[in-house]
Amino acid sequence: MPSYVDPAKCDGCKGGDKTACMYICPNDLMVLNVEEMKAYNQEPDACWECYSCVKICPQGAIFVRGYDDFVPMGGQVHPMRSSDSIMWTVKFRNGNMKRFKFPIRTTAEGAANAYPGQKGASLDYECLLLEKDLPTPKC
Ligand code: SF4
Ligand code: SF4
Repeated sequence: MPSYVDPAKCDGCKGGDKTACMYICPNDLMVLNVEEMKAYNQEPDACWECYSCVKICPQGAIFVRGYDDFVPMGGQVHPMRSSDSIMWTVKFRNGNMKRFKFPIRTTAEGAANAYPGQKGASLDYECLLLEKDLPTPKC
């Protein structure tokens, strides 16, 4: 199920130019209703349930129903992000709860570039970065 915002929890990221959920959504789906100061998913059909907005929301206001393979029908999953890990809490409909903690990448944003100076060095070169020159076809 696509993301949805609980309006009771969303504070519109306190009126910043771009909210955290707008910044992170790879599909540009999240928008802010500036009169209400509440965000919402403008095109739920296009949401691929990546959880990025859920993880970044500072208010814990965004929810996505988890996939069936790890959250059975009626369950909920909530990620809680810290500086070095995410604690995932899965609440089952019978009241059971499970928690999993996983480390997150701590590389500074924009710093993960294994090929400095090479990426995009020549826009005329048709091969991929690690590809050798293509062989010349034999006639
Ligand atoms: S990140 Fe959370 S608090 Fe901020 S605008 Fe989006 S839903 Fe609201
Ligand atoms: S779950 Fe992913 S694709 Fe869907 S609104 Fe959130 S960030 Fe965008």
